[in-house]
Amino acid sequence: MEVNATRICELLVGLHDVTVLGVEDVPDRPVRVHVESRLDQGWCRACGCRARVKDRDPVQLVDLPCFGRRVELVWRKVRWCCVEPACEAGSWTIIDDRIAPSRAVLTDRAARWATRQVGLRGRTVREVADELGCDWHTVNDAVVAYGEALLDADEERVGPVDALGLDETLFCRRGPRHLKEWCTSIVDVGGPDRPARLIDIVAGRSAAGACEWLDDQPQVWRGQIRYGVLDLSGPYRKVFDDALDHVTQIADPFHVIKHANAKLDECRRRVQNETLGHRGRKDDPLYRARRLLTKAHERLDESGDAKLAGLLEAGDPRGEVRMAWHAKEVIRSIYDLDDPDLARTFVDELADDLQDDSCPPEVHSLGRTLRRWLDHIVAWHEARATNGPTEAMNNLIKRIKRIGFGFRRLRHYRVRALLYAGRPNWDLLATITPR
Ligand SMILES: [Zn+2]
Repeated sequence: MEVNATRICELLVGLHDVTVLGVEDVPDRPVRVHVESRLDQGWCRACGCRARVKDRDPVQLVDLPCFGRRVELVWRKVRWCCVEPACEAGSWTIIDDRIAPSRAVLTDRAARWATRQVGLRGRTVREVADELGCDWHTVNDAVVAYGEALLDADEERVGPVDALGLDETLFCRRGPRHLKEWCTSIVDVGGPDRPARLIDIVAGRSAAGACEWLDDQPQVWRGQIRYGVLDLSGPYRKVFDDALDHVTQIADPFHVIKHANAKLDECRRRVQNETLGHRGRKDDPLYRARRLLTKAHERLDESGDAKLAGLLEAGDPRGEVRMAWHAKEVIRSIYDLDDPDLARTFVDELADDLQDDSCPPEVHSLGRTLRRWLDHIVAWHEARATNGPTEAMNNLIKRIKRIGFGFRRLRHYRVRALLYAGRPNWDLLATITPR
């Protein structure tokens, strides 16, 4: 046990080669710990002469909380100047990145801790900033600087990829008109025994950005990719056609079902308008049915089922919404089939059935979509038979989307998303130096 008071302070502060000069305790303020570095850097960089202490600049740093209180480290940085009158070196301050890099607001250890909290644990920047007692930008800057260095250092992060997924993500709304800004997530979809991971994020949701990114990757790496997983969109289809023409393209089940739900919603709104002459209001039967309609049927209990039937009875005189709802449920059941041949026959027939004269226009449109994407949809069943992609991608995409708010700059969003969903090797965090 240490009983020497000076050594006790040093042990508690826990920084190497640092002398604790004193502690300021002002009620309701962070504890202020004054320290000085013991590193002797008193030699002139220009002429090699002995230097002398010119003055001491106190630098205030936000440190990790201690014993339930916020802490500020006041580092009295020595400013040196050369003793040689003819020398033009001027003055300089001591550098010790173990305490904090130059111009930092957080101590090095607080910055690494914040990076881990935000990047690994997925806490918000706001929350971590409140805990430390600093502003949002301070924490964000630290996470970006340390996070980028970690991602650069982790050269093993992106290994061989079997199934590559592309997904559009809204990452911010800009300006008074809240214009949407999109980016494309490039995802390792994973496999039966491998979790999905975010590989990168590129600006925009057109084919160009993703194509350019793929062209920059090594030929060997691209050659190993067997599957391309995409939503029902032309641009990403073009990415795979142009940049990875050897891969088998697969329509992501999540997006197929989402599309069916979107058409169901479209049908509901049209019928609502045609029967009542206005957009849905809170007492209109179809408006009240909107959530029950898009919910998976097996997740409705008996009373939900009865309620839905009643609301449709009241608001859907021609049975059109009911048909669109049925179409959605049948499309969902495509993924209950295991046998690829069976799935192909099923989707093929379904595409025709949905285009029957008795069906409303939204259901027709679904039928045409199934026809156009038949090979992509059934490729899912065929790939699964060969240990292909799993549905892990969509959990990951949700994870990525959840953090996509509050960021104005794609660079910041990219680092944040990659730390959280890109599975970097966090052991490297202790070894990196931020830029
Ligand atoms: Zn000098």
